[in-house]
Amino acid sequence: MSVAEHAVSTTDGVSGVEIELEHVTKRYPGTREAAVDDFSMIVPAGKIVVFVGPSGCGKTTTMRMINRLIEPTSGRITIGGDDALKLDVDTLRRRIGYAIQQAGLFPHFTVAQNIGVVPGLLGWDKQKVTSRVEEMMDLVGLDPADFRDRYPRQLSGGQQQRVGVARALAADPPVLLMDEPFGAVDPITRGNLQDELLRLQTELKKTIVFVTHDFDEAVKLGDKIAVLGNSSTILQYDTPDAILANPANDTVAGFVGAGASLKQLTLLRVRDVELKQDALTAGLDDSPAEVRDKLTQARKRFVLVLDHRRRPTRWVHVRELGTASSLGSVGKPLRDVVSLQSTLQDALEAMLAEGGGVPVTGPKGEYAGTIELDTVIATLHQLREDHADDHVDGHTEGASA
Ligand code: ADP
Ligand code: MG
Repeated sequence: MSVAEHAVSTTDGVSGVEIELEHVTKRYPGTREAAVDDFSMIVPAGKIVVFVGPSGCGKTTTMRMINRLIEPTSGRITIGGDDALKLDVDTLRRRIGYAIQQAGLFPHFTVAQNIGVVPGLLGWDKQKVTSRVEEMMDLVGLDPADFRDRYPRQLSGGQQQRVGVARALAADPPVLLMDEPFGAVDPITRGNLQDELLRLQTELKKTIVFVTHDFDEAVKLGDKIAVLGNSSTILQYDTPDAILANPANDTVAGFVGAGASLKQLTLLRVRDVELKQDALTAGLDDSPAEVRDKLTQARKRFVLVLDHRRRPTRWVHVRELGTASSLGSVGKPLRDVVSLQSTLQDALEAMLAEGGGVPVTGPKGEYAGTIELDTVIATLHQLREDHADDHVDGHTEGASA
């Protein structure tokens, strides 16, 4: 299958294909209600569509019918124009990467073996599998030298999820199904994994169906969101902005929850706002005395120390520089950095944790500037004004509170 053997495309073309579900129903044997009842949807090529809905509403069942881990009772599913129900199951699954909660890694396989499973099954030669595994590890931010030979139990939850994503992508499938893949990790790791997925997607442009019960995650990741009710009834299928601005009914409004305008911060990314470039930076090997002079001249109290790859590592106060032997041995390690892909909500949370502006990193983790609280506040004001324009015909009542 040429689509599976292709290396990751480096052009800006979409590598994903459209998925269409038509009147798809699933009735499990011995149950009265259909788990999925007459579900119809088009998932556009190269986009992320998020299914969000309460536990038991049929999200997993709907998703698993796409790769036929569950066979539909009736209906039609096409993938890139091919009838999924008529394709040979192995051929179908080669086109579809699948990532789940807890990563689902094979415990007795190393990281490299786990990632190389599908290429191995496809009969790629050893050399090609090895280089593909390394490429995937780089892609998800795991250093091959460090992680290649570890077993899943020797990884954190977040690292396991990265391996799970790398494995799903290894054979370069045009479609990726992700079922609550970040559900089992802590909130900070979760935010980082979400950022990584968005960064990957700007390169890969797969068709991704992502399941979650967390509306904020849906808003952050989705090009479109399908809010599902019982038996996978589609309550609303639209862009995050449209759903936040105009929930289709009370059930959807309940899901959107309070603070819809604050949630709009999850629609804006750090790359959309202006970063400050006035922080003083220094390298790990710079002389503490010289850096202290520079700080004094610039009338600043803190220097941001960057490592050899220009990644931010710590803030150091001018007072600590008098006695320091090196810049790496003093100061306060950064608790939180945000990337250009992070949402303004993530940035706001990081600022609250740091007690001020936070460093922002670019595609390779390199320092790109800092984001400050006043930038976020100005953006919120702007959003409110736009919102007021939409809904009260240009009057600004209520916007000055
Ligand atoms: P979700 O992923 O939204 O939590 P599921 O798709 O897992 O929902 O489940 C939808 C409904 O189908 C639930 O009522 C669940 O109990 C039922 N269900 C799921 N799997 C089976 C099964 N193998 N046999 C019978 N009922 C099932
Ligand atoms: Mg589920």
